[in-house]
Amino acid sequence: MKPVIALVGRPNVGKSTLFNRLTKSRDAIVADYAGLTRDRHYGQGHLGKREYIVIDTGGFEPTAESGIFKEMAKQTRQAVAEADVVIFVVDARDGLSAQDHDIANYLRRLGKPTLLVANKAEGMRAGTQLAEFYELGLGEVIPVSAAHGEGVRGMLEAALDTL
Ligand code: GDP
Ligand code: MG
Repeated sequence: MKPVIALVGRPNVGKSTLFNRLTKSRDAIVADYAGLTRDRHYGQGHLGKREYIVIDTGGFEPTAESGIFKEMAKQTRQAVAEADVVIFVVDARDGLSAQDHDIANYLRRLGKPTLLVANKAEGMRAGTQLAEFYELGLGEVIPVSAAHGEGVRGMLEAALDTL
């Protein structure tokens, strides 16, 4: 069985951009508008001989009844349930939000292997700008730039090494 990696996080942090990096797949459409991607959710990739499956979340159309936050929470729960390891993506440029705290609380309670990844970190140093993310209580913050491909390989190795 190939290990399953779930990408979770609030809209617009770069999950689909990271998905494309990890899967070399064009299936996930990267939108410039929060919450408006219509992704296929699964992709495959490999690191050397190690193959893996990636689940993207957030490719949904919020309806009036469910609303974007309820739908996001549902997709996050489903993806996390299927995953062997969770990559929780936050936005290094936007900083922490209430939604980040909610997702972090959920993931901490669940106790699955989880990596905290600060995306859009191109040109940043691991120190000061990323310090606030330690508040989430998920351990080390891994800076990456999905758009530029920086830190992505190291992040993937760390994810596969938790298994
Ligand atoms: P999602 O909603 O979490 O799937 O986020 P997307 O992958 O659709 O990306 C949202 C926006 O962030 C898009 O405009 C991307 O081009 C941008 N983005 C994604 N990764 C990076 C990155 O590493 N650096 C910067 N500066 N922008 C990024
Ligand atoms: Mg997306």
